[in-house]
Amino acid sequence: MVAYKIILFVILIYLIYALFFGRKRNTRDKNPSEEELMVECAACKTFIGISEAIKKDGKYFCSQKCAKVKQ
Ligand SMILES: [Zn+2]
Repeated sequence: MVAYKIILFVILIYLIYALFFGRKRNTRDKNPSEEELMVECAACKTFIGISEAIKKDGKYFCSQKCAKVKQ
């Protein structure tokens, strides 16, 4: 009988956690997807997050060094 209570307790904790993380995941989905979007550096072909990328002449670059490189 004690084992039953432990199992129920574990299930209850799991449900609370699932609910909590489920909500967290939902709020994450609502955030602009631009933050997680990956772009390729036009100079060295490295993939970086769009928020860190430098946009120049319609192309993305990973750093100021790459942005200055002429093709
Ligand atoms: Zn680069």
